[in-house]
Amino acid sequence: RKLGVALVGLGGYSKTRLAPALQQTQHCRLSGIVTGTPAKATEWMQQYNIPRTNVYDYKTFDRIADNKDIDVVYVVLPNSMHAEYVIRAAQAGKHVICEKPMAITEKECQQMIDACKKANVQLAIGYRLHYEPFTREVMRFGQEKVFGPVKFIESSDAFRIGDPTQWRMKKELAGGGPLMDVGIYAVQGTRYVTGEEPMSVTAQFGPKTEPEKFKDVEETLFWQFQFPSGAVSNSTTSYTAGVERLYASCEKGWFELSPAFGYGPLKGRTSKGPIDLPHTNHQALHMDGVCKDLLDGKKLPDHITGEEGKRDVRLLQAIYRAAETGNKVKLA
Ligand code: NAD
Repeated sequence: RKLGVALVGLGGYSKTRLAPALQQTQHCRLSGIVTGTPAKATEWMQQYNIPRTNVYDYKTFDRIADNKDIDVVYVVLPNSMHAEYVIRAAQAGKHVICEKPMAITEKECQQMIDACKKANVQLAIGYRLHYEPFTREVMRFGQEKVFGPVKFIESSDAFRIGDPTQWRMKKELAGGGPLMDVGIYAVQGTRYVTGEEPMSVTAQFGPKTEPEKFKDVEETLFWQFQFPSGAVSNSTTSYTAGVERLYASCEKGWFELSPAFGYGPLKGRTSKGPIDLPHTNHQALHMDGVCKDLLDGKKLPDHITGEEGKRDVRLLQAIYRAAETGNKVKLA
């Protein structure tokens, strides 16, 4: 059996990545859509053979509770809307996948976790890289100390943003700027390479070279974590120019992914030579990984759950606090 997945929000990521990936998955299929735009509903129904009974808008969304064809609701909306739709999906009795960042505050993350627990459904975050072979390999290199203990990490993710009117440029909808959008990948990179939680963070805002465009969110942000083992990391995120790199210097060598966080193909090398692994469809692997566990009635692995999403959101908030105050922020 394949689980039926309903996508909530038919924007860029749903259209260009998730829906095509759901044509390749073994354990799930696209069975429903939730959209506020009737023209999109018609287009998607035709393209993906979705019956009218499996099409909802934001008002009728809660009726999804009565639809046996939909097992999983995948929330792919602007960041500030994740909490509401995850909670409503849980109350409808559906398992939920929620895009990153999980929410814009740690408090919302907790409410989402609590709602899923109460409804006895599972919650996964859209951390596609946790199923991706190059990423899994650098997790192993770092956590198993294959090149000796990790000493320094450089982990950065940034790109030049286009349309300045999009929700990503509005704090109310995005929760912040590039840190919320792609900086979260750089945060994750440092955590999965060390397998540790940072003890403290310092951070600095970069200059606003286009103040009108960046009146609501940061343009560039730098931060540094210290980890219990003594490892330190330095990271950049920005909407002004691109960088995508995860580099770890270890006692007996180094390893690197660049590009490290995009849809692929990812590329990696180490002090011993290139990393040779298959290139995959990240979204198909991720949804299949989550849905296989749901089908088998297994508890989802920690690294993909709401608790993991909450840890990152807590760190994003701490990074902003450190940049705003200029102080080192200690993390429990
Ligand atoms: P997008 O702008 O392309 O699409 C957003 C969708 O939300 C649109 O369909 C829009 O109509 C709908 N929407 C509903 N209410 C809205 C409102 N008030 N304002 C704006 N749009 C509204 O965005 P996207 O790139 O698809 O991103 C959606 C989510 O997916 C974000 O949380 C983002 O971080 C995440 N994402 C994740 C990845 C990944 O690799 N995991 C990649 C891209 C995006």
